[in-house]
Order: sequence, then C-alpha cells, then structure tokens
Amino acid sequence: MRNITHFIDGASVAGTSGRFGDIFNPNTGDVQAKVALATSAEVDAAVASAVRAQQLWSLVNPQRRARVMFDFKRLIEANMNELAELLSSEHGKVIADSKGDIQRGLEVIEFACGIPHALKGEYTEGAGPGIDVYSMRQPLGVVAGITPFNFPAMIPMWMFGIAIAVGNTFILKPSEKDPSLPVRLGELMMEAGAPKGVLNVVHGDKVAVDAILDHPDIKAVSFVGSSDIASYVYSRGTAAGKRVQAMGGAKNHGIVMPDADLDQAVKDISGAAFGSAGERCMALPVVVPVGAKTAEAFREKMLAEIDTLKVGLSNDTDAQYGPVVTAAHRKKISDYIQLGKDEGAELVVDGRGFNLQGYEQGFFIGPSLFDQVKPDMRTYQEEIFGPVLQIVRAKSFEEAVALPSKHQYGNGVAIFTRNGRAAREFASQVNVGMVGINVPIPVPVAYHSFGGWKRSAFGDTNQHGMEGVRFYTKVKTITARWPEGLSEDSAFVIPTMR
Ligand code: NAD
Repeated sequence: MRNITHFIDGASVAGTSGRFGDIFNPNTGDVQAKVALATSAEVDAAVASAVRAQQLWSLVNPQRRARVMFDFKRLIEANMNELAELLSSEHGKVIADSKGDIQRGLEVIEFACGIPHALKGEYTEGAGPGIDVYSMRQPLGVVAGITPFNFPAMIPMWMFGIAIAVGNTFILKPSEKDPSLPVRLGELMMEAGAPKGVLNVVHGDKVAVDAILDHPDIKAVSFVGSSDIASYVYSRGTAAGKRVQAMGGAKNHGIVMPDADLDQAVKDISGAAFGSAGERCMALPVVVPVGAKTAEAFREKMLAEIDTLKVGLSNDTDAQYGPVVTAAHRKKISDYIQLGKDEGAELVVDGRGFNLQGYEQGFFIGPSLFDQVKPDMRTYQEEIFGPVLQIVRAKSFEEAVALPSKHQYGNGVAIFTRNGRAAREFASQVNVGMVGINVPIPVPVAYHSFGGWKRSAFGDTNQHGMEGVRFYTKVKTITARWPEGLSEDSAFVIPTMR
C-alpha cells in the first residue's frame, strides 16, 4: 500500500507517530493509500527547517522571489493533467472540476508574480524640516496554513502563494483526506527554485493542528474549514499571540426574482448546487424564489434539469459530478435528507437511492431537491455540504433579503434578476460577505479578496489580493531626519508638526 509522507526540508519524511489515516478511492470505496499523521516532533522539524530557510529567503529580492512563482506556474501548467487526475482520484470531483480547482489557485500565483508592485511602500518627503517618512512591508517569518479537503489545490495556493512571495516560509497542514496533491505542490515549488524549507507539508489531525497553533516560532495561521474548528483555531491561535484568519462553513442563498431569466437561473443554480457534489463553501444549496408563481415555475424547470444530470466516476468526462469524499460524509448527507423529511419539508427528489452500476461501494449520492423548507428547520440552519438543493419560498423581496441576512453563515449569496435597481439594493443591504448578481458562485478573482461574514469567517483579514499581502506582512514606518548643522536642544515634549 502506498504511504503518503510529509515533505520537510525539501525531502520526504516518513514520520514517527505510527498513526496513519486512510485515503480512499471514492469511486470504489477501497482504501488506496495511508497518510502519516504527524506528532509535534514533525511539526517542530518543519518549523526548524522553515526558520533556517526564512533568514535567506527574506533577503532574496522581491523580483527574484516572483521569478520562482513564474516558474512554479509554468510547472503546474505543464503537469496539469497529472495533477488533476491525482486530485480527482482522492477527492472524487470530476477531472474538469479538478482543473478548475488548480486553475483558481494558479490565479493567485499569477497575482504573486506581481509581488514587487504589491510590496511597494509609502513615502512622504518633507513631513517636517529635513524629515522624510516612509513605510515598508516586511514578512512575518514562519507562517502556517491549515486547509480543508474540498479544494486541495486552490486553498493552499491562496495562502502560500502570497505568504512565500512576500518573504515568509510556510508550513502547510492539508486535509488528511486528500493529501497527495499538496505534497506535489511542495515538490514543484522546490523544482521551481524555492530553497528547501520554504514550503513544508506536514500531514495530520488535531495533534498537528494544535502543535502549529502553540508553536512560538509560527507567527500567523491561515485556516479554512468548518466553523466550529475555525472558531477553535482562531481562539487558540490568537491566545498564543498569533495573527489568525479562519474561514468557516457556509449556507449560500440564491434569490430568484420574478423578472429573472429563469432558464439561465435554473442552469446556474443547478451547477452551483450540485457541482462537485455540493462540496463547495460557495455552493448554492438554498434557492429563494420570490412569489408563488416564480416558485412553481422554478421547481418545474429544476426538476427537468435534475433529470439531465449525470453522476459518474471522477474520470468520466460526461459526468457533471462524482462521488463525495468519504462514506462517512455520504452518511452525514443521507442523515440530513432524512432529517429534512422528518422536519416536514417536501422531499421532491431523493438522491439516496442512487447507485452506479459496478461501483456499488463507491461514495455516490444522487441530487436531492426539497421544497417547502422553513427557516426554523435544522436542515436549513446547518450546512449539509452535499448535492441537496432546498427551496425556501418568500412572498416579497424584503422577506428574501432577510433570509441570508439573518442566517448564521454569511459567506456568499446571489440574486437573479433583470432589475438593476433591485440588484443594487440587494447588494447594498444583504448581510453577507460576497455577493453575486446573476453570478451563482461569486468567488472573487485573485486580485480581489475572498472572505465571508458572521460564522463564515473569524478574524479581520480576507484571503488573497491585497488583503492577503496585508495578512502576511507587518508594516514598519521610518521617520528620518537629516538636519543641516547642529539640531535644536533636546525636546522633552512630544514632537508635533506645528
Ligand atoms: P474540517 O473543519 O473538518 O477540516 C479542516 C481542517 O481542520 C483540516 O486540515 C483538518 O485536518 C483540521 N481539523 C479537523 N478537525 C479538527 C480538530 N478537531 N481540531 C483541529 N483541527 C481539525 O473541514 P473539511 O471537512 O475538510 O472541509 C469542509 C468545510 O470547510 C466546510 O464546512 C466548508 O464550508 C468549509 N470551507 C470553507 C471555505 C471558506 O473559504 N469559507 C472554503 C472551503 C471549505
């Protein structure tokens, strides 16, 4: 059986814990590999390597660091097929979707290629007599990222792309469910010219996470995962004096106004609800049609759309989505479907019976559709993270805006309408961090920043774009005086610019 090892100081490290996690083939249900789960000793070794590397790496000029990013981008592109297959084989998402996962990460690497520009400081000449003031952004030192299973390429690149480009060195603790792709990213970063220790990959569970959170030499932690763990990581990390950004779960709503292009909205919402088997934090699992007529028409068209969906193997190029990541996750989704029924929602399509012939042990689940879902139901309030679409009917625009605004999560939201004024009012009023107007998955482009509100994010700084640069750097401000001749006597009051 294949063993997936840590990647520390530029080399494969087996680890000493004797503890391993199972890596499944989601298509067949078989265990295809074992991943080493770290002790705090492996985290310590990775940090020691990163500390050594950081001293030199921070002195490499920004343009040279950017060149490593350019080469990394070229290598990823040259290996795209192999990487996408590897990603799909452990995650279960279809290959085209894995390429999208990698590509969205690469777009942050492209942003990092321009890091010399983003790192330029500010300068004020003549702030006082012979006095100039300037500020610069310096790296924090060693920083860490802890990532979820659902985007094993994009989310690590959101983090280390910028962190490394600005002069930090990085410890990545990827999800223990699909860890092979992150190891390849570490190897390719070395191949691109990053010195060993600049990017280390340590696998593990709570033991590794706690070791990262408590380690005095790690200055900042970026986390993406479910909200309870995000909240825990934020509290423990900040208590240890670290800078922490922790993105959590989601329950994104799509508001469908009576004037929307319904055929387009149905297609968009189907892709956003069922794509990647709903295992996306920017999936759209709740649709809110405004008015009974819109709801009836939406339901009818969505039923027809669901009929056209093909669920298949992750390497089936005709399939819209593949299996979910583990049997445990499939059971969780199935339990939520049962709960929805028990709570009194109308189960219009039940995906639980779906079986792929010849792959009965695979982690497949068909698309499900609920109607008459009410805000007081647990299945509405909680994140299901599966191919389950819930219709919550609203009578008015105001009622529709209130739903996502009052929800505990506030990651993304979308409105489908032809009315610019309604869209503008919606974007302005809604209490959610990322808004789509006729865009079902409004993940911002790499040079803007990604982040939700409420229980979807803990901490103040978003991921990537200039927010990422700010998160991974600290500002130093220099006030310099070059007086002509002898300066005045010592001043015992605070200097002012009067
Ligand atoms: P998860 O919270 O189970 O795991 C995330 C990370 O935390 C993993 O690296 C895991 O090893 C670690 N972890 C798990 N349990 C832990 C514990 N008890 N103590 C310390 N660390 C622990 O999340 P997941 O199932 O891998 O990913 C899906 C979740 O991530 C969903 O809730 C989804 O909405 C969320 N997500 C959010 C975003 C976002 O940007 N807001 C993006 C992607 C995914």
